[in-house]
Amino acid sequence: MARVYNFSAGPSCLPEEVLKECAAEMLDCNGTGQSVMEMSHRSSAFEPIIEHAEAQVRKLMNVPSNYKVLFLQGGGSTQFAMVAQNLGINKKKAAYIETGVWAKKAAAEAKHLGVEVDVIASSKDKNYSYIPRVEKVTGDYDYVYICFNNTIMGTHYEYIPDTGNIPLVADLSSCILSEEIDVSKFGLIFAGAQKNLAPAGVTLVIIREDLIPEPEKCLPGTPTMSMYKTHSENGSMYNTPPCYTIYVLDKVLNWIEKNGGAAGINKRNVEKANYLYDYLDNSDFYFATPEKGSRSLMNVPFLTKYSKNDGSEEAQAKEKAINSKFVKEAEAAGLVNLKGHRLVGGMRASIYNAMTFDGVKALVKFMEDFAKNN
Ligand SMILES: *Cc1c(COP(=O)(O)O)cnc(C)c1O
Repeated sequence: MARVYNFSAGPSCLPEEVLKECAAEMLDCNGTGQSVMEMSHRSSAFEPIIEHAEAQVRKLMNVPSNYKVLFLQGGGSTQFAMVAQNLGINKKKAAYIETGVWAKKAAAEAKHLGVEVDVIASSKDKNYSYIPRVEKVTGDYDYVYICFNNTIMGTHYEYIPDTGNIPLVADLSSCILSEEIDVSKFGLIFAGAQKNLAPAGVTLVIIREDLIPEPEKCLPGTPTMSMYKTHSENGSMYNTPPCYTIYVLDKVLNWIEKNGGAAGINKRNVEKANYLYDYLDNSDFYFATPEKGSRSLMNVPFLTKYSKNDGSEEAQAKEKAINSKFVKEAEAAGLVNLKGHRLVGGMRASIYNAMTFDGVKALVKFMEDFAKNN
C-alpha cells in the first residue's frame, strides 16, 4: 500500500527519509553487526548515538551551557509531576495559565502532590480558543507554568510571559523545534517526543542547572527516578534509556538540520499553516476554531457550517454525520487521522514538522471537493 498522509496528533508522521535510513540500518548499524535495538546502552556502539543526539539538541535549539539536556521516560504526563516534585519545593506554590486540557492536567498533578496552584489566567470563557495575554507575573511562586502549544485546542503562545526571577516552565510537547525559541527565557522546557521528534518513548527535558535540587530538597516521597538530579548526574543513563527512540530522535534532528534548522523548519511550517488557515478563513463551509493571534502552526482544529446549528437533536445528528463522513472519505483518499478531539468536535489536522506541503495541499484539495458535494 502507498504511504498515506498522516494528520495524527501523536504519535505522528516521521520524515520518510528518516524511516528509510532506520530500515537500512536495522540489521547492522554503523558496522557494528547489530541493530540499535539490541545494543547495550553502555556500549561504545550506543554511547556516540546519545551523545550526538544531545549535541544536536544543543546546537539546533541554541541551548545555553548552563542548561542540562535530559532524555527521560514517562511522557509529558510524568513531567507534570516531576516539575512539581523538583521545583515546587520552597514556597510550595506555583502559578499556572490555564489554556486547556494539558495545562489543567499539569495543574491538577501539582495540586495532587501538595503544591498550591494559583490559576493566574484562563481562556475557559471561550472554550480555550485563545491564549490569554499575561505580560508580567509577580508573586510568591516557585515557578510559572504554561503549555506553549495546545495540541487539542490548536492554540499557541505568540509571546513569552515575563516572569522576572520566577522560573518559567513550559510544555513544548507539540511544538518543539517547530520554530526558533530563546531557551534562556525558560527555567525548564519539556516535550514528549512523539509529536515532533521521534516515536513515543522519550521525553526531552531542558533544565537550567541551578533549578535541579539536591535529592533531599525534592518534595517528600519523590522517587529516585523522578529526581532531575538522578538523570543529570548520570547522563540520562541512570537506568536503561529508550535507546532506539533516542537513535531515531537523533536522525530526526539531523533531518531538521538539513532543512535549515529551527528557522528553516519554521519557514516551512508557516507556509503550510498559512495555506490551510487561508483556505479555512475564506471558506463558507468550514471554519477554524482557534482565534487569530493565538493559532498553532502544528494543530489545526476546524468545524463545518453544520456545527453552527440550533442545538436541536436533528441538527446535531446532521453535524455528527457530516463529520464522520468527512473523516471516512478522507481516509479513503489517503488522508488519515483527521477526526477532531471530542472536546472540540469536527476535525483536526496536525501538521507537524514532518508533514509535507504536498500533504497539506492534498488535504485542502479534498476539503474543496467535499464542500462542493455536501
Ligand atoms: C501529548 C501531550 C502531552 C502528553 O504527552 P504523553 O507523552 O502522552 O504523556 C502533554 N502535553 C502536550 C501539550 C501534549 O500535546
